[in-house]
Amino acid sequence: MTPIVAIVGRQNVGKSTLFNRIIGQKKAITLDVSGVTRDRHYGHASWNGKEFVCVDTGGFPSEVKGSLEKKVSEQIELAIHEAEVILFVVDGRSGLLPEEKEIGQRLRMSGKTVFVVVSKIDEPMHEGRLADFYPLSKNPMPVSGEHGYGVADLLDQVVEKFPLPETTTEKPESGPIRIAILGRPNVGKSSLLNELLGENRVVVHDMPGTTRDATLT
Ligand code: GDP
Ligand code: MG
Repeated sequence: MTPIVAIVGRQNVGKSTLFNRIIGQKKAITLDVSGVTRDRHYGHASWNGKEFVCVDTGGFPSEVKGSLEKKVSEQIELAIHEAEVILFVVDGRSGLLPEEKEIGQRLRMSGKTVFVVVSKIDEPMHEGRLADFYPLSKNPMPVSGEHGYGVADLLDQVVEKFPLPETTTEKPESGPIRIAILGRPNVGKSSLLNELLGENRVVVHDMPGTTRDATLT
């Protein structure tokens, strides 16, 4: 199974810009999936030779009350359900909002790997903005989806968290080696087999086609 990385966060924090940068030029297949995942875009991506699917969520409007709680929880629960890694994007320019603290708490409780990604950090001198987000994470990651700053460092850490590919637990077949004797009719296959086995296991006849079925030893 290809690992899924979900991008969640408020509207306008820079999720789609980051998504586009992560999937890059590669395929850029985005597909709208019906039902609850209507406003989500899926794209194929790879980093350090590891393939994954990135999901951009529609985001939730911070100003709309009432339906907000439902929308937030829908997005978050879906991400928790389907993703191996969650990128919780917050806006480095606007600072931490109370609702983001709640979301952070829910995500932490989920047990999933969550990165707090502080967007719109376009250059190193903006990194001071990270301090605002320490209540969410000890290690907020600065990125600029627009300019690419910090994205490589983020992806290095993200792909490290993917589960190892399943290795087959099937043991190689043990026991004697099986040998098949093949050839045109009447060339001496059965005689050879009898010779090898030291017994008359196979009816030998000079009429072609006497041995109809495979003979198992
Ligand atoms: P979304 O609603 O979370 O998907 O946010 P968008 O990706 O659509 O971006 C919202 C706005 O933030 C747009 O005007 C972007 O140009 C701007 N934006 C996104 N990423 C960056 C960034 O890294 N740096 C800066 N300066 N602006 C950004
Ligand atoms: Mg968007």
